Amino acid sequence: MALKTNVLGYPRVGANRELKKVEEAYWAGKSTKEELLKTAAELRKGNWLLQKEAGIDLIPSNDFSFYDQTLDLSLCVGAIPERYNALKSDRLDLYFAMAHGFQKNGIDVTAMEMTKWFDTNYHYIVPEFTKDQKFTLVYNKAAEEFKEALDLGIKTKPVLIGPITYLLLGKEKEKGFNRVDLIDRLLPVYLEILRQLESLGAEYVQIDEPILSTDISEEIKNLYRRVYAEITKAIKLKIILATYFDSLADNTDLATDLNVDVLHIDLVRAPQQWKDVVARLKGNTVLSLGVVDGRNIWKNDFAQSLEIIENVRKQLGENRVIISTSCSLLHSPFDLDNEKNEKSLPAEVKRWMAFARQKVNEVVTLADLADIFPSEKAKSALKNNIADIENRRSSVLTNNEDVKKRIAGITPAFSQRKSPFATRIKEQRRVLNLPLFPTTTIGSFPQTVEVRSWRSKFKKGEITRAEYDRLLKGEIEKTIRKQEEIGLDVLVHGEAERNDMVEYFGEQLSGFAFTQNGWVQSYGSRCVKPPVIYGDVYRPNAMTIDWITYAQSLTDKPVKGMLTGPVTILQWSFVRNDQPRAVTMKQIALAIRDEVVDLEKAGIKVIQIDEPAVREGLPLRKSDRKAYLDNAVESFRISASGVKDETQIHTHMCYCEFNDIIEHIALMDADVITIECARSQMELLESFVKFKYPNEIGPGVYDIHSPRVPSVEEMVALMRKAAQVIAPSQLWVNPDCGLKTRGWAETEASLRNMVEAAKVLRR
Ligand code: GLN
Ligand code: ZN
Repeated sequence: MALKTNVLGYPRVGANRELKKVEEAYWAGKSTKEELLKTAAELRKGNWLLQKEAGIDLIPSNDFSFYDQTLDLSLCVGAIPERYNALKSDRLDLYFAMAHGFQKNGIDVTAMEMTKWFDTNYHYIVPEFTKDQKFTLVYNKAAEEFKEALDLGIKTKPVLIGPITYLLLGKEKEKGFNRVDLIDRLLPVYLEILRQLESLGAEYVQIDEPILSTDISEEIKNLYRRVYAEITKAIKLKIILATYFDSLADNTDLATDLNVDVLHIDLVRAPQQWKDVVARLKGNTVLSLGVVDGRNIWKNDFAQSLEIIENVRKQLGENRVIISTSCSLLHSPFDLDNEKNEKSLPAEVKRWMAFARQKVNEVVTLADLADIFPSEKAKSALKNNIADIENRRSSVLTNNEDVKKRIAGITPAFSQRKSPFATRIKEQRRVLNLPLFPTTTIGSFPQTVEVRSWRSKFKKGEITRAEYDRLLKGEIEKTIRKQEEIGLDVLVHGEAERNDMVEYFGEQLSGFAFTQNGWVQSYGSRCVKPPVIYGDVYRPNAMTIDWITYAQSLTDKPVKGMLTGPVTILQWSFVRNDQPRAVTMKQIALAIRDEVVDLEKAGIKVIQIDEPAVREGLPLRKSDRKAYLDNAVESFRISASGVKDETQIHTHMCYCEFNDIIEHIALMDADVITIECARSQMELLESFVKFKYPNEIGPGVYDIHSPRVPSVEEMVALMRKAAQVIAPSQLWVNPDCGLKTRGWAETEASLRNMVEAAKVLRR
């Protein structure tokens, strides 16, 4: 008998992003609700059958969502903010209104807030709670989907976000209460959901409590004890308590004490934790071993996983071990078999990879192999796997001696500008000769339908390289002239040649591959297709010099060279797992450094290295944060420090809540940092009252996410506020972020007002 198998969740957008397509058509009024519901049902059925046929025992249901599973739960338990009251007649439209707002028929309500799901690039809709928050069972989505699968002959394992994780992920919308105290009102509704599942004949339920993989207080620990005592007393369903994204660490005692039937742990993020957990596991609790990585695209190393499985099985016996994915496969792309373009994804690299569909088979094969008498099929799969892993390990594609030597040769001098900021800024002011409150933008200018059509024609071979270059140069010239007319001080070339700020560089660096269909849900109907970093990274040729120097040749004003930084390139890619992330980050840092040095040689005086992803890479556990931040800071500095004092390095970040990392941001030692903060100037002020930021800074004066044109007065007011905590001589005036998604009309109007605001400030 093979061991039992478990999948924590499956991607729901479909192999060809079917859900995205029908959903967006529905929102645009171009598809009916019936079509939408039908597609959704087909996707669920397809996922269940696929897992059933593969041989998964614990097949997830209620892992489907039209937008987000946290929002699903909010709707089910009636945590529906009052502003949606007028929309309650249709459940699905109410749901979408909560997800992205509603502006029709005289009704105008804003969307609920969205934020990152732990340390992933998936965004969830933040539950909103009020002091007198009530919960009622509006509908039982988990039960409906369980029944739907049952009708297809499949008994699934419903998945629910745990009540404590759910409350903690939410936000108090008014003062005077603590959202965890709502547990006594939520729990009865939660128990009702579980009871209904029980009476429908469900055997298992998976309750996700990833909060257990983070640092929690004694108070929360006690809450866990109380809540799970109540749940296990009231419910006969077998409870799988799922933890993932990090180790249980000092919550191990707590988690093993909760008296659940199955405890799931993530052995990809924390391979060592099985020892502690096994040692503390109580009674007959079964352990679900999350050995197959739900967040990456690499094949499982069977030999390595089997070693853990063997050890655990020896100690617990085979009835107390389940083989599983580490977390939901939501964070993996759908199916590797759909990748057919060998030019962007070489066959040898593809051989090392596994997407969700392949990972399901890995779980089954591992369970088979862990049996005393594995099947012939599993034995041959093991042989192939060993060969694949060995092929990857020794491949000339993954290993580049020159890169390894260069990494080994990094000395402290690599991350040190020649002089401290105080000296550099004098040189830079001499060379650049900028006014007080200099104006600039973040890099991109509107990417019109036209600009995007050139790129797609070029990729399809419908226009030649020469024609494409000519069109782009025309766009750059237009962008430069507009900026001169508007009166900006430091210009940009506009990034018209870039599809995406990471993909553009990845395509030109060695060690990167690209998928055709490797989509992963980011939020709602939006998916991203991260590049794959498989090998040692280096820069074979200059990447941006031609465009930037062309732009600079058109004007006497300084043009800012525009690059993406090492932390962001790493964070927004699928990263190789056969060497520490910090090493890959440094390789990218050296490649960007080469580009920075070449830009300087080509006469560029201001160079921006964007790092919008620094904060989202922050580890869940506080104890791991320092190492991460030290590496991030060092990598950025390596990329920025090859230039002379007089060359001005900018960086850009799209968030303002950096209270907790401001000191590390200062350590990055960029000469100028531009940041988002038009929407919450207050938060920025708080950080700068407590910490004197040493270098120059451009707090964004207007929100680029909306077509609204800000007035001169409001931007002056925002800058005055900033000037209360930051010296005016340190301040730049710029928008919040890139203007790529905006139209030209509002961009021009907004920037004119912004330049006017700077003039008012100078006076
Ligand atoms: N330079 C980029 C742009 O302007 C920065 C984008 C970002 O911060 N995400 O588009
Ligand atoms: Zn930004």
